[in-house]
Amino acid sequence: MQLKLYNSLSCELETFEPIDKIGRNVSFYACGPTVYDYAHIGNFRSFLNADVLRRTLEAIGYQVKQVMNITDVGHMTEDSKADGGGQDKMQVASSRLEDAKKSGNLPKGVDIDPAKPLEVASFYADAFLEDAKMLGLKIVSDFESNAALMPRPTDYIKEMITMVQKLIEKGNAYVASDGVVYFDVSSFPAYGELSGNTLKALRSGEGGRVDMQTQAIKRNPADFMLWKPDKSHLMRWASPWGEGYPGWHLECSAMALAILGEVIDIHSGGEDNIFPHHECEIAQSCCATDSKSFANYWFHTRFLLVDGGKMSKSKGNFYTLRDLLAKGVSPAALRLELIKTHYRSNANFTMQGLKDAQRQVERWHRLADWLNMHQDIEISGNGPLSQAKEKFIASMCDDLNVAGAIGALSEAVGQYDVNKTPKCNGKGSTLGDELEALREMDQIIGILDMQHQSSTDNLAIETIESLITERLVARNSQDWKRADEIRDELLSMGIEIKDGPDGTSWQRAVQ
Ligand code: AMP
Ligand code: ZN
Repeated sequence: MQLKLYNSLSCELETFEPIDKIGRNVSFYACGPTVYDYAHIGNFRSFLNADVLRRTLEAIGYQVKQVMNITDVGHMTEDSKADGGGQDKMQVASSRLEDAKKSGNLPKGVDIDPAKPLEVASFYADAFLEDAKMLGLKIVSDFESNAALMPRPTDYIKEMITMVQKLIEKGNAYVASDGVVYFDVSSFPAYGELSGNTLKALRSGEGGRVDMQTQAIKRNPADFMLWKPDKSHLMRWASPWGEGYPGWHLECSAMALAILGEVIDIHSGGEDNIFPHHECEIAQSCCATDSKSFANYWFHTRFLLVDGGKMSKSKGNFYTLRDLLAKGVSPAALRLELIKTHYRSNANFTMQGLKDAQRQVERWHRLADWLNMHQDIEISGNGPLSQAKEKFIASMCDDLNVAGAIGALSEAVGQYDVNKTPKCNGKGSTLGDELEALREMDQIIGILDMQHQSSTDNLAIETIESLITERLVARNSQDWKRADEIRDELLSMGIEIKDGPDGTSWQRAVQ
């Protein structure tokens, strides 16, 4: 089976052909998180779609070497500008934690020195790995056996300096009067091809949001920073251009080159990475290595929205996995909710969507348990799940049509009644083969091996029951306000309560 994939570079659906056609090895660089806070579920939508792409490739016989960076320096708050601007996001984290520490509000369990950015980065990187593992990202198990697959820019400063030197030697970069090393976009005529920004538009300041001050000292408004000498930056390294720090775009180019080589098969990210981040990566990489291409396929996920707007840390309208676990959501349901909308469409996050996903996951699990229990039972010919497999994979190979694949799977699942004992009705295959087919399809969507029960299953029952007792005491003393508060608190934990003649009963709200 061949994969058809939309390439954001050509803006066309293409048949995927790896560089290594014979060995069927695929190199895949996924832009990862900046570890200045917990990743939100919008970030995870991008990472999960990259994971689904990787799993689809593996299902059709490719071996994928995936790299995902963990950014710990140089990513500025104004990252949509050609040459960055604002504060380093790690500085934002340090200041935020410093303030929290001063006011005694450091979050529970945070035992780090906010003045040490590498400590801050490690704290959030560990949290990211924990969340990513819970959400079933395969890159985490790769990382556990080979740490080089999730590189951090602060470990690749030497490689970045070498790349900048090369770009200066070749005439693609220059040191401006402010001492900053910039990439000269006019030296790379293909600049703008990924994002559709023409150099002409960027020259006149459109499409590139140009800062007037730096514009005066740069050769072209869209020239972007490779190295910035800055003795006051929170992390600094010696370089031929003075003590300073690397540009965010440079980091991904240098790490991809060091770990995957000059030309890679696939590069992924969220839609906001297209410009300027990926546009700049292409320019630097192609010029430094003299290659026509940096990545052959560009895969971009559209934003996860909340109330019609982008979910983002700066807007404060985001959920983390941790927030949702506390509300009783299971990681498996969240994974399904985040992958079920096609990656090239915006997805709108709703609690109702999550509840539906939770129900779907529970149905698959019940069926898997039932098939497992009756695996020796014989059925005639191929069962519904074995028959659905072809359609499922064909849908995934059609530019990751997850909804189509899940539709085929759900139709097959619907043919079984797990409340009945199955009867042997022929020869040909067994319910064990059906279970195998279900598991094969699940290799791609990655739901069945995950924790599927909501966290309220693990939430200490004593906690729930002591709140219910406290509410009863409040009601008995006619403190209705407190009783209502406790009911709301339980609801926010995903617990619904019901008062009846035999007392108060409770159940999980998300099922
Ligand atoms: P950051 O940690 O800010 O570097 O972002 C990590 C990744 O998440 C990037 O690839 C972004 O493009 C992506 N991203 C950020 N916000 C969203 C969102 N609301 N929906 C989907 N992807 C997002
Ligand atoms: Zn990147």
